[in-house]
This record gives sequence, C-alpha cells and structure tokens, in this order.
Amino acid sequence: MARSKSDIANSAIRIFLQDVGRYYDTARGFDPFVPKVSQKDELLIFFNHECCYCGAQISRKSISLDHLIAMNKAALGLHAWGNVVPCCHSCNNEKQQKNWEEFLLSKASPDLSSIRKKRIQDFVAAKQYDPNLNLHEFAGNLYEDVGEVAMTLINLRYKQAENGIQQLLKPN
Ligand SMILES: [Zn+2]
Repeated sequence: MARSKSDIANSAIRIFLQDVGRYYDTARGFDPFVPKVSQKDELLIFFNHECCYCGAQISRKSISLDHLIAMNKAALGLHAWGNVVPCCHSCNNEKQQKNWEEFLLSKASPDLSSIRKKRIQDFVAAKQYDPNLNLHEFAGNLYEDVGEVAMTLINLRYKQAENGIQQLLKPN
C-alpha cells in the first residue's frame, strides 16, 4: 500500500525497470526472466548451488534473488538476465542497495571474494548484460513526474470528496 508520493514514484521506477528488463531479455534472445522454476534452476547450476556472496549452500526452496545493480532511481538496474543473482536470505537482507563488489569483499576473504567476483562477472558476461547500460537518459524525470502527477490527481479528488462530504453534512 503506497503511503506517500515517494512510494508511488518508487513503484513507477520498479515497473519501468521490469518492463525495460523484459524488453532487454527478449532483445538479447532470452526467455524473459520471471523467475520460473527452470530459471531459478539455471541460476543455481551456474552458481553451484551457493550464495554468490558468502558461499552458503542454497536450494530451490531457500534461494533468494538479488539485483547486482539495484532496482532504484539512482542505479536503475534491470530485472533481467545477468542482473539477478542467487544468494542466501541473510545476504539479501544485508546487501540492500549496496554496491555488490564492496558487499562481496565484506562477506569473504580476499581469495574467496576474488573467485566469487570472477564467477559473477562470468555470469554477467554470459548473459551479455551491459553493466554500463545507462538508462538515465530514458528514465529521466520519471520518478519526479509520476510523483507530481499522482499527487495532483489525489489532491483534485480529495477536494471533490471534501466538497461532497460538506454537502452531505449541510442541514436541509
Ligand atoms: Zn550469503
């Protein structure tokens, strides 16, 4: 339930990044990432059934999905193949919007984190996700615009409701 202008604007950004992600998947010849069970399995196999950050064993049941580049208005990471990686619940909760390379370094020894970093980079490359994909030009002011339009509409309807209630409450 959206409680404020920023909730509405954040939802708009997420919808935008999901839709663009679906298009990017299709344009690269992939079945759009949902994830379906078979797509989760593909992630588990690529990452050897391990959390891509801390290395904990994960399964179809315990898998958690993280967006390497966060799905927010600053980073504009897509919900698409190559940007979604399998991890454990605890890492997912901890990482949030952090930079994945820095987060990875905090989760493992230098040796292990460089092995894991390589695996993640191989995955991104295998899926041809361009880490420099810059959507700022297209996302532009979507966040601000959606927030403004939504609040304008809400305020308009609010005024109408206020007037309607006033009429109802007037003594005859
Ligand atoms: Zn983990």
